[in-house]
Amino acid sequence: MQIQPLKIPSTEPVPDIDIAEGEHIVGEFVGDAEGPSVIVVGSIHGNEPSGLLAMRKIAPALEKLGSRIKGRIYLIAGNTRALRKDVRYLDLDLNRHWTPETIELNKPSSTIRTNRAEDAEQRELLEIFERIFLTAKDEVYALDLHSTSAESTPFAMIGDTLRNRDFARNFPATILLGIEEQLNETILEYINNLGAVTLGFEAGEHRQKTAVDNQEALIWLSLYHSGCLSAEDVDVARHEKTLREAMGRPRIIEIRHRHAIQPEDDFRMEPGYENFQPVKKGEVLAHDSHGEVKAVEGGMVLMPLYQKLGEDGFFLGREILPFWLWLSRFLRNVGIAGLMFLLPGVQRHPFEKESLIVNTQVARLFPLQIFHLLGFRKQLWKGGKLVVSRRKYDTDSPFRKASDRN
Ligand SMILES: [Zn+2]
Repeated sequence: MQIQPLKIPSTEPVPDIDIAEGEHIVGEFVGDAEGPSVIVVGSIHGNEPSGLLAMRKIAPALEKLGSRIKGRIYLIAGNTRALRKDVRYLDLDLNRHWTPETIELNKPSSTIRTNRAEDAEQRELLEIFERIFLTAKDEVYALDLHSTSAESTPFAMIGDTLRNRDFARNFPATILLGIEEQLNETILEYINNLGAVTLGFEAGEHRQKTAVDNQEALIWLSLYHSGCLSAEDVDVARHEKTLREAMGRPRIIEIRHRHAIQPEDDFRMEPGYENFQPVKKGEVLAHDSHGEVKAVEGGMVLMPLYQKLGEDGFFLGREILPFWLWLSRFLRNVGIAGLMFLLPGVQRHPFEKESLIVNTQVARLFPLQIFHLLGFRKQLWKGGKLVVSRRKYDTDSPFRKASDRN
């Protein structure tokens, strides 16, 4: 595969971000407190201003819609302290900071204070989320808006629950499945585990104005597909056109490999790689302090790292055919997942109800992909033992009354 020359990123400066520390609420609009809620989080990475800029563009229009809003809409800026300095983060990546320990440390009732900027950010955000989730009377949807360091066509990302899939397929978008299995402790994983329907979005290159346009289109369409706004109040055709033109053919791609990096690795991506570029097994994708970094399997390269800060060198993925999506939906709906422990080499986890321990020496016929198909995610792979757990709230919402579910 010949490597294409790298396009020179646009240097068009985005406006300086004027935001106070802790000024997370961009807008809060409640037309019907009993209706669905949409939470939009933008710029959880401070060097990705497009999410915040799009929310600021939209807020005045939502203000005007007032009681025409058939639910609750929350536009929330992510890392305000990092946004002020135009850096990804100050002390710690706020999008890898949602562990049970840090949440315990920074929850509203905690009195412990650290001097890390992202702990303060998390404390403020948790207070807002708690307020929203405790008062939700119907489905909760959450968007997490990002942009990429390399020039890229936009794409959406979801944890593979059937509820997330149902929401995501409303958009004319390329969808990456299963990224939350590779990236631990993201804000979206946290919100997903609270029971919300979640969608992450990478809108394009950090510095390009089109990233703001794409974010804006995605937010409007989400407000429409969540039921918060009707077709009279959203120009659905125009926003779909924006996304379609930016993304090309909609497709679903499964993330299969993450190349994790540490600062001491001195990771350098080979120049010229674009998102979704096909790669062959063994192709040299990067160099680090140990030498060449090769593709462990064929497929396509995703999110190649061309900036200094970050823990992900690149990802590898493959397109999933519609048949497999249909099959996994069928298998999950008939409840096969609950019987997996009957297979040889598979046993129930002694403490975790939704988890299984797979002895991969015995259960060679059941690789990770089979468990993915059934809605499990990998937790741990250690010494021939694989621990998988079912994704929470795969088919049922904890926010909808049982009588409303279909
Ligand atoms: Zn980001």
